[in-house]
Amino acid sequence: MTYIIAIDGPSGSGKSTISNELAEILKIQYLNTGAMYRAVTHFFLENSINEDASDEQILSMLGKIKINFIDNEIYLNGKNIEKEIRTDQVTKNVSWVSANALVREKLVSMQREIANEKSFVLDGRDIGTVVFPDAKYKFYLTASSKERARRRFLQNESELTIEEIEKSIIDRDLYDSSRENSPLRKADDAIEIDSSMQSIDQTIDAILSHMDKEDVL
Ligand code: C5P
Repeated sequence: MTYIIAIDGPSGSGKSTISNELAEILKIQYLNTGAMYRAVTHFFLENSINEDASDEQILSMLGKIKINFIDNEIYLNGKNIEKEIRTDQVTKNVSWVSANALVREKLVSMQREIANEKSFVLDGRDIGTVVFPDAKYKFYLTASSKERARRRFLQNESELTIEEIEKSIIDRDLYDSSRENSPLRKADDAIEIDSSMQSIDQTIDAILSHMDKEDVL
């Protein structure tokens, strides 16, 4: 039997690190949905699409986008864009792009298609609430904003200071949780895990302890 693990939570709560490792341990597939919203943002910025774009413009742009993953690295129209999607410019713009209903409709349907048939762990903001509301397992990862900023800072992908990163994380959480379309929110049946004081292994152990023996090889 295949199953879905939904891992949602705010920016920098460790979702992608945890999901990646969990998928390896369980020998299942991993889909980083945040990378998909970042890929669309990168494409929009390259094509000078901004917040004032019309629905027609957005739809036409979305029609030109092909996203796929090879070895968990994201490709946009055949080009590996792992580096490009982590720039401060993309991070600054991803919230308005992902608040757009047309963008969400397209990416949610892609996510459902990709994670069809095989067992998958998906991380994002709306996996347990919208993309896979019937997922067998749902977790909501949190951590203090200070700790989340510290983790992002250590990833060394940003030009910002640790204080600026913390502010950008708080701003993005606020935007993501107050938007009209699929806001960031814990699903009622998700298990919340605060990883502020936990190592990666401790968080993974906590997740595994909530899973059925038959799914944990
Ligand atoms: O996970 P990551 O920080 O890379 O996600 C970037 C942004 O993509 C989030 O701040 C959010 O605006 C958006 N996102 C979303 N829904 C998802 C995953 C990400 O709206 N399922």
